[in-house]
Amino acid sequence: MINIFSNSRQYAGKTAIISEGKSYSYSDLHQSAEQFAYTLLADESDLQESRVAFMVQPGFDYVRVQWGIWQAGGIVVPLCLSYPIPSLRYTIENSGANILVVSPEFEDLMNDLASELGCRFIVLGKNEGGKAQDLPEIDDSRGAMILYTSGTTNLPKGVVSTHANLNAQISALIEAWKWTSADSTVCVLPLHHVHGVVNVVSCSLWAGASCEFMPNFSEKGIFDLVTEARINVFMAVPTIYFKLINYWETQTAGVQGELTNALANLRLMISGSAALPVSVMERWQTISTHLLLERYGMTEIGMALSNPYDGPRVAGHVGYPLPGVSVRLSEEGEIQVKGANVFKEYWQKPEATAESFTEDGWFQTGDIAALDELGGYRILGRNSVDIIKSGGYKISALEIEEVLRQYPGIKDCSVVGLPNDEWGELVAAAIVTQGLVDEKALNTWMREQMPAYKTPRKYLVVSELPRNAMGKVTKKDVVNLIQ
Ligand code: ATP
Ligand code: MG
Repeated sequence: MINIFSNSRQYAGKTAIISEGKSYSYSDLHQSAEQFAYTLLADESDLQESRVAFMVQPGFDYVRVQWGIWQAGGIVVPLCLSYPIPSLRYTIENSGANILVVSPEFEDLMNDLASELGCRFIVLGKNEGGKAQDLPEIDDSRGAMILYTSGTTNLPKGVVSTHANLNAQISALIEAWKWTSADSTVCVLPLHHVHGVVNVVSCSLWAGASCEFMPNFSEKGIFDLVTEARINVFMAVPTIYFKLINYWETQTAGVQGELTNALANLRLMISGSAALPVSVMERWQTISTHLLLERYGMTEIGMALSNPYDGPRVAGHVGYPLPGVSVRLSEEGEIQVKGANVFKEYWQKPEATAESFTEDGWFQTGDIAALDELGGYRILGRNSVDIIKSGGYKISALEIEEVLRQYPGIKDCSVVGLPNDEWGELVAAAIVTQGLVDEKALNTWMREQMPAYKTPRKYLVVSELPRNAMGKVTKKDVVNLIQ
């Protein structure tokens, strides 16, 4: 049984999705998904965990394809819409997908790749159609989805989640963030990563809420939805809040006041996928009256930690374990996670899978955190890139970034460790500035804020930080820039 599917049957006539200006009810979604399952099955009765790759804009078609693949017994492999052909080839080949589904605008781009890789090629609205048939029984232990990690630290890895994993990930968030069928949200995130797929789209549709799609993000578009009271829940990555703040600041005082009043009516605003700078959280609170709820998660586990829905949300903290998720810190401070939410395996990487678990079955996230007195977690960064090992010290890049951002004229920054024979690594920073920043004065100021060994030895002014599709700073690129 596909829980998200059967669960939402009770909302049949309600609006499920708004995309490209059209509204679709839950029964529209069910019918079209089933219809698409018939197309996929053609002359089989069950896809038996075959991988189906698809390249479809976020919107109604995306969800009907996703649910259709599940109904037919397959594993969904959503592709990144902005990847160049070699990366798309890698994903399709690596996942072993034998069916490739595209919306018409991607037909020309993908046609050759489909034949090169021997995939059955389905173009939506063009060669769909299949006879109604009984759909297979789907056991929860079946693979449901392969998402590739964001590739922030290394080549993206395929993460296989089962239906049971997804059910656990979704239901934990429904409970913690109090999703109901009265909610409405907008999806501005790409749908080949867990944040958009699970937290926004799957949670809203599981709960019977409505989900509007905005595949091309625009600040004005978001503020319009808010002032028209069309959404009451909003989730995004820190860079999006950063953009919304910049936009708000360019408006007249009158418009700013209206936007603030409208924002105050939202039920919930959430940030995640990368550390939320305290300055962004504070600024957004003044603008919107909302204390952003920050949470922590990853492709392999869905969400694991969240600030409370009711109760204090602390800047720089990611809160407490979600329902059904067990979290512990290793001696080195690494976050380890256990629970039904934890993925099944890295696709065709048995060694990487085995290495990522402790002997007693805890998943090792590679992220380092500290516990506060109340049992809440504070992320110090990724062991591989954010924890700088210099002269015997372990230094959290995120902590230094927080301090740097308070310096007048520094708009954004990224702190990294540069390989160094004498010290192991040297602290260095790429900074995005507004106006001239005098390095000497900055250095003196930094030394007043923190012990000298933590202060950057080298600064590089850049116009923009290198980021991946999720808006995360890719620190390997920062190291290359500074070196
Ligand atoms: P790759 O594994 O390919 O290097 P990735 O880890 O960025 O990429 P994701 O699974 O999308 O891929 O991201 C999960 C990571 O994002 C976490 O391991 C953590 O480092 C970071 N992250 C998520 N939420 C937060 C947060 N609130 N604060 C700090 N870091 C966060
Ligand atoms: Mg990762």
